[in-house]
Amino acid sequence: MLLEKSTLSSGGSGAAGAFLSPKICSNSSYTSFVNTAFNFSVKFYKENFSSTIRQNGILRILKSEKDKIKCKNPPKEIENVKFLKQNEIEFINKEIAPFGGYFFRDGAIIDSKKIIQNLTKDIEVKENSFAKKIKYQDEIYEICSYKAKGVIVCTGSDIDFKELEYINLKKTYGHRIDIKTDAKLPFHLHKNYSVSSSKNDTLHIGATHIPKYRYSEKEIKKELEKMIKEVSSYIDLKNFTIEKIHFGARSCSFDFFPVVGRVIDHKKTLKKYPYIKKGSKVPSSKYIYHNNLYIHTAHGARGFVLAPYTAWMIVEHIKNDTSLSEDISTERIFLRFARGKQLTIY
Ligand SMILES: Cc1cc2nc3c(=O)[nH]c(=O)nc-3n(C[C@H](O)[C@H](O)[C@H](O)COP(=O)(O)OP(=O)(O)OC[C@H]3O[C@@H](n4cnc5c(N)ncnc54)[C@H](O)[C@@H]3O)c2cc1C
Repeated sequence: MLLEKSTLSSGGSGAAGAFLSPKICSNSSYTSFVNTAFNFSVKFYKENFSSTIRQNGILRILKSEKDKIKCKNPPKEIENVKFLKQNEIEFINKEIAPFGGYFFRDGAIIDSKKIIQNLTKDIEVKENSFAKKIKYQDEIYEICSYKAKGVIVCTGSDIDFKELEYINLKKTYGHRIDIKTDAKLPFHLHKNYSVSSSKNDTLHIGATHIPKYRYSEKEIKKELEKMIKEVSSYIDLKNFTIEKIHFGARSCSFDFFPVVGRVIDHKKTLKKYPYIKKGSKVPSSKYIYHNNLYIHTAHGARGFVLAPYTAWMIVEHIKNDTSLSEDISTERIFLRFARGKQLTIY
């Protein structure tokens, strides 16, 4: 059963593009994680929701000489990739790509709302059900008068439960727009903004990044004008009209990895091992956990790339007791909280 405080897709997922694009120009463990998830998720959407994925490939434009050196090699996890020099790039204004770009044939965009409808069609969805408290008694959870043996919290950027106060996430808001235009683009494109391939005279453009949001019509107008001005330098947006403006929040952990796994009872754990606060190492197997309470969130700006992969991981963990990668664990978040570190995004 899925409890949703508003309506399906009313959170960040409804606002997203949603572009499926690999991460480039870095050899970090996060890059490797994103790209492994990219391969998993593209396959997942194609096998399960083929009518909702548009796999026209994505061209990632390199932005500077520094980028060109950093991005000398394409990501090692990704196949079907070709480097294009400036003079080999077609359909867009070549001047925006003096350093060339990588064309990823598997890059895609998906219809996020349709995917969510399909994903939830065989389960009970209770809209307008605001989970305010997680009540637990006699091994049963009770939320909004529904009872269950286990709960997975996937409330995106809103984590308002006292059990989860140690999960400190940063919100970044953003807009995406759909425009009607005569401009034609046969593939998806990304430089500072992403532009989808054209379908039914429509292009999806996104997304802006606003760290601190205060509603102001003037600010929104300025922000959208900036986005359109830049995208107009990529392609000639002939006779365009803005059809729809989407808005949502992304939630992000301090190291960008999602937060997926069992929820630690931080109060009981710190009471039993107070020296964790001073930096002593206590194996996580000794931590105290809430029974059958899990979390799946903080997918940042890449939820549609990462979440099928992490959802598969957590299902395997719950059903078959497989171990979860430390990179996405609740333990790393708990330790930061216990040692009083502030949320700083690297
Ligand atoms: C403008 C924008 C563009 C983006 N573009 C891309 C992209 O191109 N590609 C990509 O992969 N990702 C993109 N993302 C990121 C992606 O949308 C998110 O990572 C993903 O949607 C997060 O999904 P979620 O299910 O964790 O959160 P959400 O989609 O926010 O879902 C959480 C849901 O929980 C509900 N909820 C919250 N609290 C409660 C409660 N107490 N009780 C009941 N229900 C509750 C909310 O109403 C919401 O519907 C973008 C995000 C934004 C904002």
